[in-house]
Amino acid sequence: MYRIEDHMGRRFEKLRVSLLNTCNFSCTYCVSDSTTAAPQGIALAPATHEEQLDTNEFAALIAAVHELCNLKSIRLTGGEPLLYMNLMPLIEKIKLIGIDDIRLTTNGYYLKQTARQLKESGLQSINISLDAIDTVLMKTIARHANPQKVFEGIETALQEGLHVKLNAVIMRGQNESQIIPLLEYAAKLGIKVRYLELMKMGHLHNGQNELFFSEQEILETISRKYPIRRLDRTASETARYWSAGDDRVFGIIANESTPFCHDCNRLRMDSRGYFFGCLSNANGEKLAPYIHDQESLTKKLRQLLLLKQPVKFHGSSLSMRNIGG
Ligand code: SF4
Repeated sequence: MYRIEDHMGRRFEKLRVSLLNTCNFSCTYCVSDSTTAAPQGIALAPATHEEQLDTNEFAALIAAVHELCNLKSIRLTGGEPLLYMNLMPLIEKIKLIGIDDIRLTTNGYYLKQTARQLKESGLQSINISLDAIDTVLMKTIARHANPQKVFEGIETALQEGLHVKLNAVIMRGQNESQIIPLLEYAAKLGIKVRYLELMKMGHLHNGQNELFFSEQEILETISRKYPIRRLDRTASETARYWSAGDDRVFGIIANESTPFCHDCNRLRMDSRGYFFGCLSNANGEKLAPYIHDQESLTKKLRQLLLLKQPVKFHGSSLSMRNIGG
């Protein structure tokens, strides 16, 4: 086995795969305008752009990287991965490669009709983006959301036995009023909510940070109502967790306030087959030409690992929709 490790002892252990760059929502922190969203209810064919990989190409690349890195888990993202027509066959192929821990991040819109198949195809856990309980606010942020469908999707995923976590991007003057309602909603369902500090990605890369709402402000908001206690952090985990009394547990992914680059183990692939060693570095590399040559592939993976930030995320011109965050 080739050793692919950097001077900080970091390795690629988790692969995040963006299956397509299309989504039926247009969240304000992800894309600059609402015109790029896919029409509601339309399950798009996989070939959304000329370089889009097909299911066999995804599987071949995942297998080659797994061979060298012994991946612990795969996270399937997008755009909106539930729009990827061959999702279940791809999950089954990944299982056959020998990776059991398969996860997915979704906006939840199509979850009611797909949760059972996802579970049956072998998916383990699912993160659902939910930036507000207030349906007017949810529509304002997602710009195309159908709140009822999202809530039904969350409940169906739980009924089908999927492990569910909620992700909420908190923005000043937009949805900080939703921090407590999200915490109480998640506690009612017996699940965790993670609050994300806004990331300077894509159209926000060079923007002002007036929307930024910090980890400290989130903690102050919650501790005004509930006593909070810090919980131990799992190595390489992006979120840090707290309890807020009585079965309420929340996390914060504070890429700005409490960076987590020191033990980052994430590798990313987009829907064209470009690999990115670090979210802060938009220089991707196509690895398909090397998948039958382990020495060259090892060299390429080592080069990608060297792109990782030593301390913290510096923003990225990469758009969330293309790389899945
Ligand atoms: S900025 Fe790069 S090194 Fe830091 S956590 Fe993100 S992907 Fe990992």
